[in-house]
Amino acid sequence: YSFFTDALHPDDHKSTMQAMLDAMFQIKPVYECEYRIKTKDGQYRWYYDRGTITQRDKDGKALFVAGIVFDVTDKKNDEFLLKEENRSLSIEAYTDPLTQISNRRALQDELEQLVNPHIRIQRPLSIILFDIDNFKQFNDEYGHLAGDKVLKSVANELSQSIRGFDTLGRYGGEEFLIILPNTNLDKALRAAERARQSIETLVIDGLPKVTVSGGVVQREEDESIETMIDRADHKLYQAKNQGRNRVC
Ligand code: GH3
Ligand code: MG
Ligand code: MG
Repeated sequence: YSFFTDALHPDDHKSTMQAMLDAMFQIKPVYECEYRIKTKDGQYRWYYDRGTITQRDKDGKALFVAGIVFDVTDKKNDEFLLKEENRSLSIEAYTDPLTQISNRRALQDELEQLVNPHIRIQRPLSIILFDIDNFKQFNDEYGHLAGDKVLKSVANELSQSIRGFDTLGRYGGEEFLIILPNTNLDKALRAAERARQSIETLVIDGLPKVTVSGGVVQREEDESIETMIDRADHKLYQAKNQGRNRVC
C-alpha cells in the first residue's frame, strides 16, 4: 500500500485517506477523490479516482475494491490557468489604469463592506476626499501628458502617506478618496493635513508644484455612503472657497 501512499502528495494525503476510510466503513457508498502522485520523472500529476467496495466479509469488512483512475493533469492545469486569469481580470476591474491605485468601483465595494452591519459592528470610519487645485489650468498650460504625470505622482505620494489598512483610490478625474477604518475625525484630519503637506512639497521633474484641497468627514451613525461622500464633497468645496491647498 505504501507504493501508493509514498508517491501521494503530502497535501492530498489526509483528504484521500478520509475518502477511502469513508468508503471502507460504509459511511459513503463510493469514494471519490482527486490527488497528486509523484511520477517516475519526479513531477506530480493529478488523478481523479472513484470506486466502491465490491466485496465484504460477513462482518462487513472490506475485501475488494473496484474503481477507475483518470489522469486529469491537463484539466487541472487549465483550471489553474483560468483561475489565474480570473484573478488578474478582477484585479484589472478594480484598478485605475493610469495610476494603478483602486478605482471608484473598488472604493465603493470597500465602503459597502465597512458599513455593512451584518459583518461588522459600527466603529469610527472616516474618509478624505482630495481634489487637485486648478488642474484644468495646469492641463491647459502644460498639456494633458504632463497632467497625467502629475496624477500618477500624486497617487503615488498619497499611497505612501496612508497606513496599511487605509484604502486610497481614484474617485474621479483628479479626485482621490482615502478610506480610513477605525479612525475618528480628529485623526483623519491630521492624516489629511500630513498628506496635503506631502503633495505641496512633492517635486515632479520639470513641472511646477501642485496642491490639493481636501474634505474630511467621520461617518455619522447609520449614515449612508452617499450622504457621507456628499458631506466630504461639501467640505472640499469649503476648502476650495477658503483659498485651496488646505483641508476642512
Ligand atoms: P479646482 O481647484 O476648483 O478643483 O479647479 P480644477 O481646475 O481642478 O477643477 P475642474 O473640475 O474645473 O477641472 C478638473 C480638470 O481635471 C479637468 C481636466 O482637464 C482634468 N482631468 C481630469 N481627469 C484627467 C486625466 O485623466 N488626465 C488629465 N491630464 N487631466 C484630467
Ligand atoms: Mg474635481
Ligand atoms: Mg480640481
